[in-house]
Amino acid sequence: MKRHLLSIDDLTREDIERILGRAESFAEVSGREIKKVPTLRGRTVINLFYEASTRTSSSFEIAAKRLSADLVTIKSAGSSVDKGESLKDTIQTLSAYDPAAIVFRSPAAGAAGLVARWTQASVINAGDGKREHPTQALLDLYTLRRHRRNLDGLKIWIVGDVLHSRVARSNILAFTRMGCRVTVCGPPTLIPRGVEALGCDVSATLDGSQDADVIYALRMQHERMTGSFVPSLREYAAQYQINARRLGAGQLLMHPGPVNRGVELSAEVIDSPQALITEQVQSGVVVRMAVLYELLAGAPTSTEAPIHPEPQPA
Ligand code: ASP
Repeated sequence: MKRHLLSIDDLTREDIERILGRAESFAEVSGREIKKVPTLRGRTVINLFYEASTRTSSSFEIAAKRLSADLVTIKSAGSSVDKGESLKDTIQTLSAYDPAAIVFRSPAAGAAGLVARWTQASVINAGDGKREHPTQALLDLYTLRRHRRNLDGLKIWIVGDVLHSRVARSNILAFTRMGCRVTVCGPPTLIPRGVEALGCDVSATLDGSQDADVIYALRMQHERMTGSFVPSLREYAAQYQINARRLGAGQLLMHPGPVNRGVELSAEVIDSPQALITEQVQSGVVVRMAVLYELLAGAPTSTEAPIHPEPQPA
C-alpha cells in the first residue's frame, strides 16, 4: 500500500480486497453501542475542505473519531484562505502540528497530489475537481459487495454527466479492477473523449441498459459546467432520467449524492427498495475507517519515506 491515497490507481486489487475486508470488521464496531476503538489514539487527522461537502466530510469526521484520532476540520470559507493564504502555506502551517493524515478536497484537479509533496502526512484525496474521488469508489464497491458477493463479470451502467464527474472516473477504475464490465452512458457532450481507454464501453442512449445488473446514476454537475452541455434539463431527463419505467425489477440503483430529484432520478426510484443510496452513505464511515487504518496503522507503506521519519542528526 502506498503512503497516500490519491487515485484508485494507487491500489492493487489485493489492496482493495484488504480495505473492503477491514471495512467489514469495522462494521461490527459500528453495530456496538460504543462505536469506538483506540487504534489512532494520539494521532492527528486534519480534514481540509476547499469545496462544499456533506457526506464525505461528515463521514471522514465520524471515521476518525471512531478510531480515537484527534480531529481538526477546516473549511476554506472562514479560514486564512479567505485572507489569501496560498495552498502551500496552508499545508505547511497545518503540517507544523505533525498530523498523521490530511484528508483534502479541492475544486482543482491534481491538487491532492501537490499537497502530498508538501507534507509528511499521508494525504487522502477526498475529491479533486473533475479528477478522482477514490474513497467514494471504495464505498461503492463495499456497498455493492453486500448485495452481489461476486463482482466479477457484473454489468454496471454509469449514466449521466460523466464529463464533470470525479466519481465516474474513480468508479470506472475501481469497478473494472474488480472484474466488472462498465458502460458509461450520457449525451455525447457529457462523455469525455477517449474514456474507453479506462476500460469501459460507451453508449449515447439507454438502449441495452436493461441488461445491466447495476445502474449508477450521476449528478448533473452544474457547478463545474461553464457552457451549455444539454439543451435543457427537461430534455436531459426525457432521455436519460432513471425512472420506474427504465429501472428493471432486478436492477440495483446507486448514486453518489447529492441527488437532483426529478433530473437524473425520479422520486419513485430514489425511494424504491432497489436504491442503495442511503446504504452508500452508511458505508462511507466504515470504508473511511478502513482507509485511515490501512494508511496509518496497517502494513508498512511501500515508499522509502516512513510516515513519521526519525529525526536525523543535524
Ligand atoms: N458527492 C460526490 C462528489 O463530491 C458526487 C457529487 O458531488 O455529485 O464528487
